[in-house]
Amino acid sequence: MQNTKPHAALLASPGMGHLIPVLELGKRLVTNHGFNVTVFVATTDNSLSKSQLIEQTPSPNLLNVVLLPPVDVSSLITPTTGILTQLAIMMREALPKLRSAILAMKFCPTVLIVDLFGTEAMVIADEFNMLKYVFITSNAWFLALTLHMPTLDKVVEDNHVKNQEALLIPGCKSLEFDDTFEPVLDRNDQIYVEYKHMGVQMQKFDGILVNTWQDLEGTTIGALGGEKKLGRVAPVPVYPIGPLVRAVKPGPRSEVLDWLDMQPIDSVIYVSFGSGGTLSAKQTTELAYGLESSDRRFIWVVRPPIETDSAAAVFKTSHRSDDSPDFLPDGFLTRTRKMGLVVSKWAPQNEILSHPSVGGFISHCGWNSALESIVNGVPMIAWPLYAEQKMNAAMLTEDVGVAIRSKSLPTKEVVGREEIETMVRTIMDKGDARRARVKTLKSSAERALSKGGSSYNSLSHVANDSETAFKYLKAKPQGA
Ligand code: UDP
Repeated sequence: MQNTKPHAALLASPGMGHLIPVLELGKRLVTNHGFNVTVFVATTDNSLSKSQLIEQTPSPNLLNVVLLPPVDVSSLITPTTGILTQLAIMMREALPKLRSAILAMKFCPTVLIVDLFGTEAMVIADEFNMLKYVFITSNAWFLALTLHMPTLDKVVEDNHVKNQEALLIPGCKSLEFDDTFEPVLDRNDQIYVEYKHMGVQMQKFDGILVNTWQDLEGTTIGALGGEKKLGRVAPVPVYPIGPLVRAVKPGPRSEVLDWLDMQPIDSVIYVSFGSGGTLSAKQTTELAYGLESSDRRFIWVVRPPIETDSAAAVFKTSHRSDDSPDFLPDGFLTRTRKMGLVVSKWAPQNEILSHPSVGGFISHCGWNSALESIVNGVPMIAWPLYAEQKMNAAMLTEDVGVAIRSKSLPTKEVVGREEIETMVRTIMDKGDARRARVKTLKSSAERALSKGGSSYNSLSHVANDSETAFKYLKAKPQGA
């Protein structure tokens, strides 16, 4: 068999938030740019199963998706090690597995593309003479913060941490203390060290791809310098290639979609906190009452509250007047039967958001969820919980203008039922300006991704550079 096309190897950390956009990137490199693509997914014993992976893979016949042999990080972490630190450690431990997997390939890939947690794989790209890119599955503002970390680290008196002042990121929106990204706060925490290291490492790559587009974050992309290497923050070219979101799957209809078919257009608010987000018991109760009194239709993907997570059986029925689980108000399911649908733990989110009956989204603002909402023209109530979600919420609310949020942060205080009711009524109002704004962005996202659009062209630049490298390596005499 002849090696006729450039081959991209993509490395993803486990977790849907990273995996989904990486798989979509792989799909685009194959379908729009004629690449062969292998996606390597790092795992631990309890992270991701082959079947979960296959379920997430768009068009499995297009992509070669490989689960790397699991790594054992148990001796390197403690029960208090944060999830982001665990991911960083795990990706480091997976590097020998990646190296072996690449060595075993018939043809060495031309280019290696890693996510934020995979930046140490740079040495492998260098070893095999591959071009190397980082793919930030979040937005340009978050990328700007990450790239700013090494500079920030040199500041002795950090007013952001010490005096809770806004953090200035050159050319970009400042980061208010309330919306901060926790890893920047504690220099003694391992995640600070890991995060700063990522910011240092990614400056040595051939370029950075980011899941955003020009019309959404033009100012920040401009500050980063785009592809022109003129950036004040980014010393390497930045390629906005988004919004890459999972395509809606044609397939068997679910109960949720059948229910949506029976509801009026734009009448349902969808409530979900991502692949792992949970609320406290008190907050769950307030949200239930808030939804009920808003008198709007809803789909709520409910998880047992944090406090009961290990113990509670979902939908336990003892001593209750109906089937409402212990952590929902007694009788909630009966009272809201005509108005809402409660789904346990997981729902087909993108299919739901693309349904014409859905007119609003209460979202934890994970970046994939935010993008899925925008590309489907659905305004949001921003309800950030962890990671960079507070930044996303601030941006979507104040800059992009497609979301509202509560007066105080849901991570600081319980958001009361009255405020929830008001927010739901506001965002579901057909005349609300955020609805018009999100519809405009929906069209702009479609344009960015279509042939000749800004994101399409950005990825073409990366593809062309890889193609040139491929031709050069092919033409090079053996051993030269
Ligand atoms: N998701 C889903 N069903 C659910 C919850 C999440 O399909 O019930 C998908 C969602 O569509 C998105 C991803 O999981 O693509 C979650 O990614 P995001 O970045 O929004 O948040 P994370 O889970 O990483 O916090």
